[in-house]
Amino acid sequence: MPEPGPGQMLVKIGGAGACHSDLHLLEAPGGSRSFALPFTLGHENAGWVETMGPGATGFAPGDPVIVYGPWGCGLCMNCRQGMENYCQTPGKPSPGGLGGTDGGMAEYLLVPSTRYLIPLGNLDPREAAPLTDAGLTSYHAVKRSVHLLGPGSTAVVIGAGGLGQMAIQVLKALCSATTVVAVDTSDDKLKIAKEMGADEALMSGDDAVKRVMDMTRGQGAEVVLDLVGVNPTLTMATQVSRVLGHLTIVGLGDAALPVNFNSPAKECSVASPFWGSIPELIEVVELARTGKIKVLVEHFPLDSATEAYRLLHDGKIQGRAVITPNN
Ligand code: NAD
Ligand code: ZN
Repeated sequence: MPEPGPGQMLVKIGGAGACHSDLHLLEAPGGSRSFALPFTLGHENAGWVETMGPGATGFAPGDPVIVYGPWGCGLCMNCRQGMENYCQTPGKPSPGGLGGTDGGMAEYLLVPSTRYLIPLGNLDPREAAPLTDAGLTSYHAVKRSVHLLGPGSTAVVIGAGGLGQMAIQVLKALCSATTVVAVDTSDDKLKIAKEMGADEALMSGDDAVKRVMDMTRGQGAEVVLDLVGVNPTLTMATQVSRVLGHLTIVGLGDAALPVNFNSPAKECSVASPFWGSIPELIEVVELARTGKIKVLVEHFPLDSATEAYRLLHDGKIQGRAVITPNN
């Protein structure tokens, strides 16, 4: 059991989500890693305060908390604005469970600062854990484009897995008048996307492109979120984006999007957001607390974590797999 040092917190893990980013990490060629192995996976964590290091205040043992993941320096301009995901200090952020620092697929997680703990109130950490990555990343990706999504607008979500299901609900919660189109290669995911509020759910392919263009009278969608990032999805994202729109690449599929004067559409902005800010996580928790978004969770004991990743790899996880080390 790690011992929290000055200002640090020890969290007893309720749930640690299994993200597709972990699969990218596991499948990356050995030489491409810039950090030392081994370390404990799990960057999507929630649980209860176990013990507080010397000088740590503001919480009490037993408090249910969710853990903000990208740990920055806390002192640069971006960190001071809550955007530790974009910490300006070289080598940071260093998220637990992603880049060499131990994460939450263990009974206990050492959290470097109380800054990273957000109270969960009456939410169960085992159910809420995915809010801190699947929820926060989707929320941030949507929020930067909210001004484009008024009545009559269209948002396309490509990839309706762990992140996509959150993006659909966030779009409905923040931009109630926009038409949300979900695209996936799996019938199961398309069915869930509809249940989560998507107005249309389309099988990935040329017909989906045609349908979006018909729906938007040939203009394309104001906002396209690509939560996969492979060649077919980036191609589709380009084909269905409109003039002055936002084409947002969240998926780490590692394909490249050709950009020139004629494509994507004129003045369509392309962005690749990483995770989200601490204030945004507070807002995500608030959306969940008030019942506006929910996570479809499948629980796995720690001994079955590798099985959870195998199922995720095979596309057999319906929502989010969450490891529960303390059951
Ligand atoms: P997931 O496996 O739960 O979901 C991926 C979904 O994409 C699945 O439903 C799958 O059926 C669908 N899909 C696969 N190929 C497709 C295609 N050609 N067309 C349409 N749909 C397709 O994964 P996830 O955990 O939601 O993560 C999604 C991506 O986002 C991953 O690449 C992950 O690494 C990345 N990610 C990025 C950030 C960030 O900060 N940018 C944060 C978290 C995750
Ligand atoms: Zn910083």
